[in-house]
Amino acid sequence: KVILHATSPELEGQNLLESQSPIYKALSLKLLSKASSDLNDFVSYEWQNPNNGKVETKLSYFQKIPHTERVIASGFYTKGIEQIAAEKQVQMQESNDAKVFMLKIYSLLFTLASLGISILISKKLQAKFALLKVALERKSSELQELNLALEEKIGKRTQELENAYAKMKHIANTDSLTQIKNRYSFLNAFNDELKRHKNQQKEFSLLMFDIDYFKHINDTYGHNIGDIVLMEITEVVKGCLRTEDIFGRVGGEEFMIFLPQTPLQEGQEIAQRVRKAVDENNFSVIEHATISLGVVTSRKDEEGSEMFKRVDIALYEAKSQGRNRVCVG
Ligand code: GH3
Ligand code: MG
Ligand code: MG
Repeated sequence: KVILHATSPELEGQNLLESQSPIYKALSLKLLSKASSDLNDFVSYEWQNPNNGKVETKLSYFQKIPHTERVIASGFYTKGIEQIAAEKQVQMQESNDAKVFMLKIYSLLFTLASLGISILISKKLQAKFALLKVALERKSSELQELNLALEEKIGKRTQELENAYAKMKHIANTDSLTQIKNRYSFLNAFNDELKRHKNQQKEFSLLMFDIDYFKHINDTYGHNIGDIVLMEITEVVKGCLRTEDIFGRVGGEEFMIFLPQTPLQEGQEIAQRVRKAVDENNFSVIEHATISLGVVTSRKDEEGSEMFKRVDIALYEAKSQGRNRVCVG
């Protein structure tokens, strides 16, 4: 029995079970079926919507009023809910679309911004790289210049060393007073020529001479004059020799001459020529000076030392025979 009804007051006081309306009856039966159990629950039923007069599905919550046999209910038409839900859905869709649109805008902006930033960074990096490249190129050209300077320096040093070496070699091999071969250099040249002549089976001659009474020249005119005499005799002898002849100062006032491809006869002739030239020379510092000579010619398979002994004996012979002469050994 309806006690109170908000929108259909004509129902108040009516027993719906007895009503002729099938919808009122249906609700009454539904409520009765639940009456045995606890009625506090949602119940779905058909009802006339007072807003449009149409019978629509309504969902109401029924609750028993404690300590009474009465029930109170309140509900809504589900169609309205669906409509609201549809509207909400549309609203949400719109808001979602707007959000998606904004999201797209944001991502576009973000992409543009990051693109801009990357361009900016790459430009800065490019500028830095360009600077670095220029610095590197400058360093490289500096290095090249340094390298060139170093090479030039090394070349100069090498040249200096070569010059120094040549100078030292010259000093080591040359007699400082007469500027002809010293003993060491003459012996080296003699040994080389000896080997060559032995291989080719060729004859050669060896001269040795010593200034006569040189002690006397020194004692009379002084050591410096003696030196000048040594130099002048050297020049005179040089004038008598061929280009291939090897001339050396082997002692204080002792000299040797190697005569390549020269048999004894020719050796003797050269020795006489040398002796005569000194004998006839006009010295600048003294009146007269002479030399004594020994001459020997190579023998088959003879050692160099043997030849030296022989030529020394020949020279000694020239001295003992009265000086200013040539003796054959
Ligand atoms: P001989 O005819 O027997 O050869 O008599 P000599 O006086 O020449 O005697 P000897 O060969 O023994 O003397 C050599 C002298 O030569 C002795 C030395 O003082 C001198 N002498 C050696 N080397 C040099 C030098 O470089 N310069 C000068 N001025 N004298 C030197
Ligand atoms: Mg001597
Ligand atoms: Mg002498």
